[in-house]
Amino acid sequence: MEILTQTAPKTNLLGLSRKAMEAFFVSLGEKPYRAQQVLKWIHFEGVHAIDAMTNLSKALRAKLHEIAEITPPEIAYESTAQDGTHKFLLRLADGNCIETIFIPETERGTLCVSSQVGCTLNCDFCSTGKQGFNRNLSAAEIIGQVWTAARSLSENKTTHDRAVTNVVMMGMGEPLLNFDNVVSAMDIMLDDFAYGLSKRRVTLSTAGVVPAMLKLREVSDVALAVSLHAPNDELRDVLVPLNKKYPLKELMQVCKDYFKDDKRRYVTMEYVMLAGINDTPTHAKQLIRLLEGIPSKVNLIPFNPFPTTIYKRSDRATIDKFREILMAAGINAITRKTRGDDIDAACGQLVGQVKDRTRRSERHLKKFADSQNASNL
Ligand code: SAH
Repeated sequence: MEILTQTAPKTNLLGLSRKAMEAFFVSLGEKPYRAQQVLKWIHFEGVHAIDAMTNLSKALRAKLHEIAEITPPEIAYESTAQDGTHKFLLRLADGNCIETIFIPETERGTLCVSSQVGCTLNCDFCSTGKQGFNRNLSAAEIIGQVWTAARSLSENKTTHDRAVTNVVMMGMGEPLLNFDNVVSAMDIMLDDFAYGLSKRRVTLSTAGVVPAMLKLREVSDVALAVSLHAPNDELRDVLVPLNKKYPLKELMQVCKDYFKDDKRRYVTMEYVMLAGINDTPTHAKQLIRLLEGIPSKVNLIPFNPFPTTIYKRSDRATIDKFREILMAAGINAITRKTRGDDIDAACGQLVGQVKDRTRRSERHLKKFADSQNASNL
């Protein structure tokens, strides 16, 4: 008779925050300070070979070989846009692929990190949503994007050593629907023994999962961005269907209170500019009323098209006019520069390779084909 022996899966040390790493070493009968040493090796030194960790005893390294691993995602494909924006397509152990984008600027380098394989929210103007959903990323897969990008960029001699100075959780997925793993990964980004980024340089962006925003405020002090996109419920219900569950009144109340203990901080409101949909002076005036009393700044994002979308980007003059109306009312508004769109690396263009379990991508393509056929009649 065949005897099946089952070995416990190894712990991927890449995804352990300081707290989790300390608990891990204590469970092995080791001192908690081992956590700092190993965090530093992995994230500061970029090491993934246990044997390279020379301040651990040989016996401890042998033990780690048995029960632990440091497994980053694999780079399946990468490309650089004309403006220097760099796209990584990362393959995960189960074959799904996610996208991570590096956006270099003169004073900083921002990494746009994914939190899920696909997304469940299905915002009408976002190509990730149209890909459907497979699963949440583990903490190791989230921080693994930072690890892989930082290492790859520092190996690339055209960039300097610490290329990643900022992280935005604005890649594929809704980070607040993968709460624990996202918070663990952000803890590692902020940890002085790992990436040591300041709380103002790590931003979580949400479509407005109200209860999770309240919880986040209690456990993390990273910067917050909200994907607003519409100044009234009627329109937002269509563009961001999550609005039906958490309407603007509730969302705005959380935003109002979010940084009430620190008057210097504000919520970034993201507003995608869709021609003829949400970009008129009337919308701007509604937005002014909506943001009254809310410490906020508005980021206007020119819409980035993708093949099956019905939406169009507002023209420059319309965006400028919209911005001027906001500014005249004392609202700080900037227009986000479009980066990386020639390699489909811009906001809302990230698709990865999602083994869709929702069949939404299929339905979306059928709907699009039907609408094309109808307009050809
Ligand atoms: N789910 C989170 C994280 C994604 S962030 C959130 O909604 O905030 C990605 C940002 O790009 C969001 O503000 C999103 O609304 C915006 N976006 C999505 N599709 C876009 C598109 N086609 N053009 C421009 N911006 C887009």
